[in-house]
Amino acid sequence: MHPYDQPHRPSAQVYRLRRAVAASALVVVAGVGWQAVGSDGGEEAAPTTTTSSTTTTLPALPACAEGEEITSRDPDQDWATILVDTARALPATYGPPDLHNISQAGFPFTEGQALRGLVMDDLAAMRQAAEANGTPIGVLASYRSYPTQVDLFTRRVDQLGASEAGSRVARPGHSEHQLGTTIDVAEQGALDVDQSFGASPTGQWIASNAHEYGFILSYPAESSATTCYDFEPWHLRYVGRDHAAAVIDSGVTLRQYLWDLEQRGTTTPPVPSTAPPQ
Ligand SMILES: [Zn+2]
Repeated sequence: MHPYDQPHRPSAQVYRLRRAVAASALVVVAGVGWQAVGSDGGEEAAPTTTTSSTTTTLPALPACAEGEEITSRDPDQDWATILVDTARALPATYGPPDLHNISQAGFPFTEGQALRGLVMDDLAAMRQAAEANGTPIGVLASYRSYPTQVDLFTRRVDQLGASEAGSRVARPGHSEHQLGTTIDVAEQGALDVDQSFGASPTGQWIASNAHEYGFILSYPAESSATTCYDFEPWHLRYVGRDHAAAVIDSGVTLRQYLWDLEQRGTTTPPVPSTAPPQ
């Protein structure tokens, strides 16, 4: 498989740093900053007149570690906000109910390249905008089933040994690609991608604009302490435009954002801040 399929996680030394960071981090959110808006999660908006002055301390984002906690949430409904990481997994039996070939978003038909139908309109819009900018994109990977991830992981274990493979490949159930909302992009026509994509005009356009179409880089640069993966300038998860705007507004990584949302017990994005990032 291509390198982009094998995100590798940093060394044990970095893990120790992560634990130290996580142990010292307390997420403090003022109640008025997280009033629910929109209908993305199908929840009632919280009363906007709430003036609670209490400060809630939420459980801190866990340090990066492997685990086998199967999510209790429904990926069909909670595709935008469900957390999938090195500890939290999707059920082995889960597959999206509404897969469509990416040709529906205007890309050339490619056998086996499929995503959920709900992604298509915004993916088409992003494709068109990238092309209009003179930096057209292609899709290298999209939905990946649990059995496909098993095959990928097994091959890497054969090649590298269990220990090394375990640090370089998302284990089955732990890949966002299983959601059917996640893509790996590259320059149009490219057959592979690596971290240098991040510095290319196309990669820079993606980094600056993908959120406008509801896509977030799950593993941005210099963020492995909270994302648990090295920089992947090609890996985009679709969370919808409202959540994507809120992630950018928050200034935190997607994993941190989704964790915080879960601790708040909501699936609706917080009100965008008008204040500059702190
Ligand atoms: Zn990916």
